[in-house]
Amino acid sequence: MTFPVVGMVGGGQLARMTHEAGIPLGIRFRILSDTPQDSAAQVVSDVTVGDYRDLDTLRAFARGCDVVTFDHEHVPVEHLRALQAEGVTVRPGPDALVHAQDKGVMRARLAQIGAPCPRNRIVADAADVTRFAAEGAGYPVVLKTVRGGYDGKGVWFARSEADAADAFKAGVPVLAEERVDFVRELAANVVRSPHGQAVAYPVAESVQVDGVCDTVIAPAPNLPEELSAQAQRLALTVASELGVVGHLAVELFETRGPDGTPGILVNELAMRPHNSGHWSMDGAATSQFANHLRAVLDLPLGDPRPRARWTVMANVLGGDYPDMYAGYLHCMARDPGLKIHMYGKDVKPGRKVGHVTTYGDDLADVRERARHAADYLRGTIDE
Ligand code: ADP
Repeated sequence: MTFPVVGMVGGGQLARMTHEAGIPLGIRFRILSDTPQDSAAQVVSDVTVGDYRDLDTLRAFARGCDVVTFDHEHVPVEHLRALQAEGVTVRPGPDALVHAQDKGVMRARLAQIGAPCPRNRIVADAADVTRFAAEGAGYPVVLKTVRGGYDGKGVWFARSEADAADAFKAGVPVLAEERVDFVRELAANVVRSPHGQAVAYPVAESVQVDGVCDTVIAPAPNLPEELSAQAQRLALTVASELGVVGHLAVELFETRGPDGTPGILVNELAMRPHNSGHWSMDGAATSQFANHLRAVLDLPLGDPRPRARWTVMANVLGGDYPDMYAGYLHCMARDPGLKIHMYGKDVKPGRKVGHVTTYGDDLADVRERARHAADYLRGTIDE
């Protein structure tokens, strides 16, 4: 049998949806999951349950895999270097992945390649944050632990030196950034293969609520053509300069200069399929998951172009109702064009348990349909 085995570290919804994309291609898919109940572990047949921080576990998992890739960026890079030295193909490799693991390393490298970023530097303690504030626009200052944050955890908006002290409690180095007065958040998603082939998805708008992605609109409405091309070029440059293989999400802030000139600044990098690209499952000719698989296998990449004028993805967050299935009847009857993706996760307030996608020609209608379905499934509306 010549069909390759792709091993993905992590058992979350990204692994679940990557598995789904590999089925029509006949790709054999294996995951390393924390528990047998994780989202992907429920549906993938070849599951290793174990700790991705343990090198021997990773070694045993990688044996027999043609390539190892990731649903999260937390595997220690020294372990990945050890696997590579033993002949395992790791994509993206540790030299790229470290930029998605450590915001300090990421900022330093982006400065080297001339990518526009908010003013930033590593700060030693709360008094140093005050010095950083004095060097620029003053408080508030955004503080981020360089490692371990996600969905806004590990990010503080410090209004004073006393506030700033909180960020140092974890004992992890802290990066200070100027607070960007952005117009909105964008995501430039690209996929790059070892051959150096790369594709760029339309730049999307990502709407965050309480630090969590809530809605994604592709393409970003009213984005000037020039800025969109600039964002795509920037993401492609980051992918090639950092040697990324697979999907790269470049989270961006759209800004306006004092004279109203639009601009972009890089917020974050993710080197795996990303929430801002979920719309592509239903809204693009080739989804981010299919293209991630093609890239890590060094196959030619698929067409990233949208299938409809507008695609809107709304995350379904856990609410007060534990039974999301109860909402299917109403949502499906109301909107036959609705696409529902649930992750098999227990409902907990605020947790991402699924997403819905709608597409069409009328943006207001497409948005309303996605919003309605996400809210109805969550239980915040009942009609
Ligand atoms: P995480 O790694 O948890 O996703 P991010 O660095 O993406 O953290 O920050 C989470 C959110 O905080 C961003 O989506 C944005 O809304 C806000 N944010 C982050 N950095 C800044 C900044 N420098 N200025 C203004 N807002 C910011």
